[in-house]
Amino acid sequence: MIETSTPARLRVAPSPTGDPHVGTAYMSLFNLAYAKRTGGQFILRIEDTDQARFVADSERQIFDSLRWLGLDWDEGPDVGGPYGPYRQSERLETYRPHVDQLIADGHAYHCWCSPERLQRLREELAKDKAAQTGYDRLCLGLTREQRSRLPGFSQTPVVRMLIPDDAPGSFDDLIRGEVKTPRPDDQVILKADGFPTYHLAVVVDDHLMGITHVVRGEEWISSTPKHLLLYRWLGWPAPAFCHMPLLRNADKSKISKRKNPAARLLWFREQGYLPEALLNFMELLAYPPVVADQEQQSFDQFVAGFDWAKVNTTGPIFDLAKLDWLNGAHIRALADAELSDRVIDFWNQTGQTPAATPGRDSGLILRQATPIIKERLTTLRQAAEWIDFLLVDDDEVVIHDDARAQLPPQAVELLSGAIEALVEVERFEPADIQAGLRDRLVERAGFKPRVAFTPVRVAVSGKRVSPPLFESMVILGRASCLARLRALRDHLAD
Ligand code: GLU
Repeated sequence: MIETSTPARLRVAPSPTGDPHVGTAYMSLFNLAYAKRTGGQFILRIEDTDQARFVADSERQIFDSLRWLGLDWDEGPDVGGPYGPYRQSERLETYRPHVDQLIADGHAYHCWCSPERLQRLREELAKDKAAQTGYDRLCLGLTREQRSRLPGFSQTPVVRMLIPDDAPGSFDDLIRGEVKTPRPDDQVILKADGFPTYHLAVVVDDHLMGITHVVRGEEWISSTPKHLLLYRWLGWPAPAFCHMPLLRNADKSKISKRKNPAARLLWFREQGYLPEALLNFMELLAYPPVVADQEQQSFDQFVAGFDWAKVNTTGPIFDLAKLDWLNGAHIRALADAELSDRVIDFWNQTGQTPAATPGRDSGLILRQATPIIKERLTTLRQAAEWIDFLLVDDDEVVIHDDARAQLPPQAVELLSGAIEALVEVERFEPADIQAGLRDRLVERAGFKPRVAFTPVRVAVSGKRVSPPLFESMVILGRASCLARLRALRDHLAD
C-alpha cells in the first residue's frame, strides 16, 4: 500500500524548446494522479534556463495542451502560487548565493577552459577510448591569474561541481528500487552567461518549492547522483525519486518528434482525439487498467487506485491503434448533444468547419446526423467526412468511382422506381421510406434488397459506404433526395 496520508507536492518541469512533447503530458498525468491521491498539489514549472534552445510560443502551447487534457496545476507561471516565480529565468538571483556557498565550501570551482579546449579534450578522450571521460580538472585549484597563463583560457568562467570519490553510486527509486548509476563528471552548474544549468536549478527549485516527489523520465537517472550530491552539500533533505519509463515507437526506439507525429502533443488535438481518451490511453502506458481487462476508464478511477508499485519499468509501446479504439469507445460514451458540441468545438478550434451550400447549416446538420454517425467515428475529425454529402448542393454530389462501380446494370430502372416510390411516401420518415422503396423495388419489381437500394445510396451520398441510408434521406429532405435520384438517373440514361 502507498502512504497517502501526507499531502505530496509534485511538479512537471518542461523546457519551452518547441512543440510540447507527449512525454510532458505523460509525466504530468502521473504526477497529478499522485498529488490528487494524497490530497496534495501539482505544480507547473517552466525550465527555461537554456536560452539557446528557447522557442517563443512554446510555453503557451504547453499551457494550452495540458489544460486541454484537464491536467490542471495548482501553482504555475500563469496562476501564481506561494513559491513563485515559477519560471526559472525569473529566478536567476535565487540560484547565485547557492553557487557561492558551494564554491566557498570547496564543493564547486571556477573553470575558465574555452569551448575549443573542451572540444579538443572530448575528441582526445574519445580517440584514446580512455576509461576516464569528462573534464580533466585543469582549472581546479588555480586562480584566474594562474589559469590565464595556460592555453585555452576564456575570460568568463563557468562553475563546476567537484565530484568527490565517494559520490553516490546508486539511489533508491520509488518504482525501480535500488538503481546503480555511473560516476558523474564535474558537472557545470553555472554557465558563462550567468544562467544556472538544469542540474543546479532543478535542485534549488525543487527544494524551495517543497517538492516531495520528483517524478520524471528515465533519461534523468544518470543525473540523479549529481542532484543527490547537491542536496547533501546544501544540507537539504532529498525528495523521493521516481523515473518513469520512456515511451517507445513500435520498433522500440525512443519516441521522437522527428520520427513520429504522435510525439507532438498538439497532434492529438489536431486529429480530433478526445482529451479523456488520450488520458485513458496514457494511463495504460506501463500501467495496468484499474479493473482487470477493462481498459476504458476515467481519470478519477485511475486516481483512486493509483500506486507507484504498479508502474512497469519496461518502455511501453505507443500503439495508435489502441488509442483509436479507446477514442471510439469514449466517443460512443458521450450523449449525442455533447458529441455534437465537441465536434463543433473541434471545427472552431482547428478552423475546419466544413462549408455548407446556402440554405444548409453545417452545425445543424451535424446535430441531426450525430446519432447515425456516432458508431462510425474513431476521431472527431472524421465527422466532417461522414456528413459531407449532406452539406453540398444537390447538383454537386460527387459520385466516387468505387460507388459508381457498384451500380447494377438496371440502375436506371431502379432509380426511376425509387423516384416514384419516394413521391408517394406519405410521411418522410426512415421506416416509411424503407417500406415504400421495398414495396416498389423488392416486392413488386423482384430485385434483391442489396441490388435495389445500392443506386439510391450512390445517388444520395455518392459513396459506397455511407451512414444509414434512410435516416440520411430524412435529414436531406424529400426534395433533395428526388433531385439527386433524378440527377443520377438522367446522367446514366444519357
Ligand atoms: N526540464 C526537464 C525536462 O525538460 C525536467 C526534468 C525533471 O523533471 O527534472 O525534461
